[in-house]
Amino acid sequence: MKVAFFDSKPYDLPSFQSVGEKEDIDFKFIEAKLNADTAELAKGCPVVCVFVNDTVDAGVIDKLYDLGVRLIALRSAGYNNVDVRHAFGKIHVVHVPAYSPYAVAEHAMALLLTSVRRIHKAFNRTREFNFSLSGLTGFDLHGKTVGVVGTGKIGSIFIDICKGFGMNVLAYDKYPSRSDVRYVTLNELLEQSDIISLHCPLTPETRHMIDASAIAKMKTGVMIINTSRGALIDAEALLQGIKDRHVGGACLDVYEEESDIFFEDRSGHILDDDLLSRLISMPNVIVTSHQAFLTREALDNIAETTVRNIKTFFEEGLCENELCYRCGNIEHCKKDRKEKCF
Ligand code: NAD
Repeated sequence: MKVAFFDSKPYDLPSFQSVGEKEDIDFKFIEAKLNADTAELAKGCPVVCVFVNDTVDAGVIDKLYDLGVRLIALRSAGYNNVDVRHAFGKIHVVHVPAYSPYAVAEHAMALLLTSVRRIHKAFNRTREFNFSLSGLTGFDLHGKTVGVVGTGKIGSIFIDICKGFGMNVLAYDKYPSRSDVRYVTLNELLEQSDIISLHCPLTPETRHMIDASAIAKMKTGVMIINTSRGALIDAEALLQGIKDRHVGGACLDVYEEESDIFFEDRSGHILDDDLLSRLISMPNVIVTSHQAFLTREALDNIAETTVRNIKTFFEEGLCENELCYRCGNIEHCKKDRKEKCF
């Protein structure tokens, strides 16, 4: 089985090569991202394996279909970059629903602690033998109110971590699932939280859920964490909130326009994205480049589940991790599914 593996990075190779050899899957590692110009590279492969910043829109899907591709295997949980509606009836789509929700939830807390306790500043100072403490005053997380948007796998673990810190937790979810958490409306969460962490998927409904009007409702000094998808936040509005001294800090692992920037070494280049440059220049903004998932455990799980998805799809004709446009309410759909989506 030949699989065209787009947007491959050095950290992908050990886990995918090892599980591929064991399961007789021949990965063709391609450094380029999948898009209309590169789709041709999938020639001869019935499967393409894609990541979060590959473009899998209607045009790309048609090209892949004409080339004989019959399965798109996402090596991510999120699938907002795939036009699943257009793929329906042509190419099946599978994803990795969970690989290590702990990796992402722990990264969210790592960002929060770094920001609140100014660890990033202290690290740079002591490397220069500057042992001054001025400007490094933080605040206790204990007793603060954290608002968690999306209480699925990752949000739920983040809640447990926050409870361990003695924080008060408020939650908002379209489909509340926990009985031990206080669910409130989104407006109440925005108004009452000292810290807000986003863990819901990017959908047309959640796009820019944090915009200027949402920020206006937040407490002065609020900290915003986004480890979910960049477009949940209107970055222009966030920057304005920071410049107005209304937003006290932002921890961003994702950014709406990240696809041509993140995952690459741009250190020798001039960054064209003024908005991102300005955000990074702020003393109270921390940006990591979509690395929340990046743990050894997560990489092994991603490789194993991706290969299992491909094998079960072709050998058993069914894969429990298949997605389609009807899966808007995917958790409920998947529980009942006994056959392929089409
Ligand atoms: P999940 O499906 O387990 O949970 C998502 C939760 O969001 C569910 O409880 C769902 O009911 C809720 N939700 C859906 N629509 C909503 C809405 N309109 N308003 C509020 N809540 C809504 O997903 P997960 O595994 O917890 O992942 C959450 C997100 O994290 C993913 O969608 C993905 O975008 C992101 N993610 C990021 C990284 C990273 O490396 N930064 C890695 C993995 C996942």
